[in-house]
Amino acid sequence: MLRKIRLTCGIICLTLITLLFLDFTGTLHGWFGWLAKIQFLPAVLALNVGVVVLLIILTGVFGRIYCSGICPLGVFQDVAAWIGKKRKKLPYSYSPALSLLRYGALAIFIITLVAGVSFIATLFAPYSAYGRIANNLFQPIWLWGNNLFAHLAERAGSYAFYEVDIWIKSLPTFIVAAATFVILILLAWRNGRTYCNTICPVGTVLGFLSRYSLFRIIVKRPASMLKNIRSITADAWFAWIVLVNASRKRSVTNCGQPRPGQQKQKKMLMQPHPRKSMKHVAISLP
Ligand code: SF4
Repeated sequence: MLRKIRLTCGIICLTLITLLFLDFTGTLHGWFGWLAKIQFLPAVLALNVGVVVLLIILTGVFGRIYCSGICPLGVFQDVAAWIGKKRKKLPYSYSPALSLLRYGALAIFIITLVAGVSFIATLFAPYSAYGRIANNLFQPIWLWGNNLFAHLAERAGSYAFYEVDIWIKSLPTFIVAAATFVILILLAWRNGRTYCNTICPVGTVLGFLSRYSLFRIIVKRPASMLKNIRSITADAWFAWIVLVNASRKRSVTNCGQPRPGQQKQKKMLMQPHPRKSMKHVAISLP
C-alpha cells in the first residue's frame, strides 16, 4: 500500500512533467506549469523562496518527499529499475551512500555554477537532465506521432491536428541527452537509483537536511530482513504515512524483530531521529 501511494504520486508527477516538456502548443503549461515551479533546483536558481522553504520544511519534517514523488528523474530511474527487476528477477541489495563522491560532486556543481560554467552545472542538475532527455529524445517521437495523427485526420476531413516541423535543435545537446539517458537507464536497471546516491547535488543537500528530519528511516540487520528489498530509500521516504497508521493500529514491534510467521517478509524500520522517547516502528513493503 505504501509503495503504491508513493509510485502513484511519482508516476503522476513524472507523466505530467514529461507532458509539459512534450507539449508544443503551450496548453498544458497553463494547467500544470506549477509542477515545474516546485522543482528544487529551479526554485533555488529562480530565488523562489516560498517553494524552497516549503521543500526544506517538508524534508526537515518528513524526509526526502521531494525525491520520493516529485523529482521526475528519480521516478524515471524507478521505472527503469522496475523494468530491470522484471527482466532480471535478480534483487539488488542496499548499498550505503558514497559520501566522498556525493560531496565532491556537490562541490563541483556549486563551483561551476558560481563560476558561470553553467554547461557543466546543468550536467549534474536533475531537472535539467530530465528536461534535456524529454526535449531531445522524447519530443521528436511525440511530434512524429502528432504528425501521423494530423495526416490521418486530414485524410478523414478533420483538422483537429496540424503538422509541425521536427528537427534536432543542437547536436551536442542531443548527444549529452542520449548519453545521460543511456547511463541512467543502465545504472537504474542494474542497481536502482545510483545517480541519486552518488552525484545528484539536490539529493546530497536534501539527504543532509533529512538527517535532522523529525521522522527518519533506519534499516536494521539481520540481513535476512534486507535481502530482496530493491529500493529502501525510495520507499522509505514516504514512510511517515505508515508511522501515523502504525501507531493507530498498534503495530509497533520490538525494534524490528519479526513476528512469528513473518520471517520471510520484507521489512524496514522507521525511527524518529535520535529521541529517546520515540519508538521504532516496523513497516512492511507490499
Ligand atoms: S536524488 Fe536527485 S535525481 Fe534523485 S530523486 Fe532526489 S533530486 Fe531527483
